[in-house]
Parts: sequence; C-alpha cells; structure tokens
Amino acid sequence: MKIYNTLTKQKDDFKPINPPLVTFYACGPTVYDFFHIGNGRTFIMTDVVRRYLIYKGFKVKFAMNLTDVDDKIIKKANSEGKSASDVSKKYSDEFFKDLEALKIRKADFYPRATEHIIEITNMISKLESNGIAYNVNGDVFFEVNKFDNYGKLSGKNLDELEIGARVEINDSKKNSLDFALWKKAKEGEPYWESPWGKGRPGWHIECSAMSTKHLGETIDIHAGGNDLIFPHHENEIAQSECSSGKEFVKYWIHFGFLNIKEEKMSKSLGNFYTARDILKKYSAEAIRMLFCQTHYRGPMNFSFELLDASEKGLAKLQNIVDMIISNKDSADEKINSEFDFAKYYRNFEEAMDDDFNTPQAVAVIFDFVKDYNKFIVDNNNVSKAFWQGGYDFLYRTALEVLGIIDLGVNEISDNTKLTNELINLLLEIRAKLKAEKKYLLSDEIRNRLGEIGVSVKDTKDGSTFRIN
Ligand code: AMP
Ligand code: ZN
Repeated sequence: MKIYNTLTKQKDDFKPINPPLVTFYACGPTVYDFFHIGNGRTFIMTDVVRRYLIYKGFKVKFAMNLTDVDDKIIKKANSEGKSASDVSKKYSDEFFKDLEALKIRKADFYPRATEHIIEITNMISKLESNGIAYNVNGDVFFEVNKFDNYGKLSGKNLDELEIGARVEINDSKKNSLDFALWKKAKEGEPYWESPWGKGRPGWHIECSAMSTKHLGETIDIHAGGNDLIFPHHENEIAQSECSSGKEFVKYWIHFGFLNIKEEKMSKSLGNFYTARDILKKYSAEAIRMLFCQTHYRGPMNFSFELLDASEKGLAKLQNIVDMIISNKDSADEKINSEFDFAKYYRNFEEAMDDDFNTPQAVAVIFDFVKDYNKFIVDNNNVSKAFWQGGYDFLYRTALEVLGIIDLGVNEISDNTKLTNELINLLLEIRAKLKAEKKYLLSDEIRNRLGEIGVSVKDTKDGSTFRIN
C-alpha cells in the first residue's frame, strides 16, 4: 500500500511502526461556528482513509483534536456576551452532530486544548530547558533558528521565509518567524496559571502535546487540509522533535481544498455553505460520493449540479442494493455462481492501495454493478450465494470503506426528498395564485410554511426555500 507523503514528496510504501497498530492524528476544528462543507471534505476523506486502513486489517488508534481556546472563539464570545467556554461547548456539540449526520465514524479520542494544559505547559517547559523556547514578559516563543530541520515539511527555507516575513514586525521576538507557544493573558481573556504567569496555549503546541499524550512521541500518520502544512504542521514538527529528540510523524497526509468558483471555501471569504445546510437537501451518501469522485489530494470545485449528479449515480447503486436485499433471503440454493467477485475486490484494493484512489475505487464499484446486473439478466435464476456475494462486496467496499450506500432502509433521504418535493409543489401553486393576483392565499402559504420552520424567499427568478 502506498501513501503520498508530504514529507518525502512521493508515494511511500506504508509500513507502520508497530503493525497491526496504526496511530493516526488529524487536526480538527476550531469550535466557534458550524463547520462548512470544505471542512467537511477534509473530515470525510480523513474518515475514508481511516476506514480503509481498518479494511486492510490495521488496528487504527485515531485522535482528532478540538481547538477550544483561540482568538476566534474569544472574539465570538465577546460579540455575543457569552463566555469562551460557552461558545466552544455549543459548537463542539454541534460539530459532533454534523459528524454523525455525515456518517463519519467517531474517533477514539477527541482531545481538547483546555483539558491538556498540564501536558502543554510541560512540553513548553521542556523546550525552555532545552534552550529552544524563550520567555518575553509572559509570552513564550519557539526559536526557529535552533531547529536545523525547520522547513522540512513545507520545503520552505528559513532565509526565504525571513524575507517574506519581515513585514510582520514584532519587537519582542528574536526572529519574526518565531511563533507563540504560550500567550500572556490579555484583559478579559480566559487564562490558566503557568510557570510564565497567567496565559493560554498557542495553537500549534496543543497538537504536539495532545498527539504525544494519546498516541506517543512518534506516530504513523498525521493529517489535515493543505492550508495546515505551513506554518501549523511545520511548527508541530519543530516543537515535537525538539522536545522528544525523536521523529514526530512517519506519514503526512494533506487534503486538497474544496473551492467555490476556483476560490478556497472559507469562513473569512464568506463563500461557504455549512455542512448542515447541505444535509437538509442531500444525503450523507451523496455528499460522500461527491468527494470520493475526486482524488483527496487535488482541489475540487463545489456546485449543486455536481451534487445532483452524485445523487443520480447513487440511485443506480441503490437500485441494485434494493434488489439484493429483497432477493437475498428468498433465493434457493442453486449452484450457478460463476461470478468472479474476487476480481472486483482486487481492483478495488488496487485502487485504494494506490494512495487512496477513491475515484478509481468508485469506478470499480460501478463496473461491478454493471457486470452484476448483466449476470442477473443472462442467468434467469441466480443462487443465494450470488446475492450474498453481491451484498458482501457492496457492504465491505461501498458501505464500510466509502460510506456511499446505506444498506438499511433509506428512510431519511427518502423522507427528505419527499419533503422537498411537497414544498416545491406548494411553491408552484403559490406562484400561480400570485399570477392571478390572489395575494391573500399566496401570503397565507408563505406564512404557514414559516410557522412550520420553512422560510420562503421570493426572488425575480422565482421562490426558494430553506428548512430552518
Ligand atoms: P479549521 O476549523 O478552519 O481549522 O479547519 C478544520 C479542517 O478543515 C482543517 O484540516 C483545514 O485544513 C480544513 N479545511 C479548511 N478549509 C477547507 C477547504 N476549503 N477545503 C478543504 N479543507 C478545508
Ligand atoms: Zn493540528
């Protein structure tokens, strides 16, 4: 099995340190808002990587952190007149709800920065006693010049970086690239006691400290979006390797951006859809299918047309699933099963072994569906083993690894579809009423929909709705 490793910039053979154990850490969300579907892409593809490792027989120990103290959280808390911990508590609860709705498997650990202050301050103290961290009036910085390998992940070199960073002048730092390990508390900010006075951890150190605590000093895989390569992951390496003296991570996996009109989807640009808004109209399977159809490393554009296309593709898959489910237990024991299931497993694994090539894996599943269907047409009476074989293949690949089908009753997505159709029907009737100037009735439809949580917006191109 090969994984593209950002550190070596090539596809490396995957050899975990202590097989079958695989230690896997992924950078999670900063919990100050609902996450957007771009974050969702990274979380879903992380889940697919993890599920495939399990499929391969590895025992995966997986941690994803929650950044629950940070400037953005404090800002939101101040603007809403709440405490930072109220904000982070609310949005971490919402984060878990969205993960579940996207059918992302629960991690073994969800460490939070505020619950690891001791581990964090211990690591900073160690860096300080190793002569790598320095304290300036309660702010503690990491001195990048002390780490020879700084830049090894991002391929950036310190001299170039220094030229680029000169604009950002901070008098208290020895070098403009030095980064904060501990931030002195400002008025009104949450703080913890530390050897350097009251303050809070920097962002990078939390991941170094928490991955060490839960997974050990050297871990197999560390993952995150492309934007985290520099400086976040570069800094994690510097902190961890200077503190333990050991290699921090064997394989670095980075996910491409989800873009909207060629631009990265992000909170700050405002060009985003939250995962939960998309989930109101599309099933988790359709969203996962959309992401699996592009290789995880490349960028991809988001559009509703693409999501509609994924949904259509999935309907074909779901048809065969429904047929299998309705025949599986009733077929008789005929021995006519010449169908070569092993070939499709081989092809699926070949795709996934090649740096998690999910677009190819999806293509294998569709090949399978086509050939399986043909086999049913060509052999008018197929055996129980054939139905069971089809069930097992789709269960192991499309459901357990990619999460693009649901072998149970697909009530939620069917209900969502029906709800949307019914609302659209009402809106069509309302448009006719308006055209006939029957405004009392058309307003009543809008108001009554509003009362049951459906807000209707009228635009010059017609009406749209949103289920709140
Ligand atoms: P954040 O909460 O912004 O720290 O992001 C959580 C995760 O989502 C990180 O791994 C980010 O790299 C990733 N991420 C942020 N924006 C995008 C995007 N547009 N597409 C894909 N992943 C993203
Ligand atoms: Zn991190």
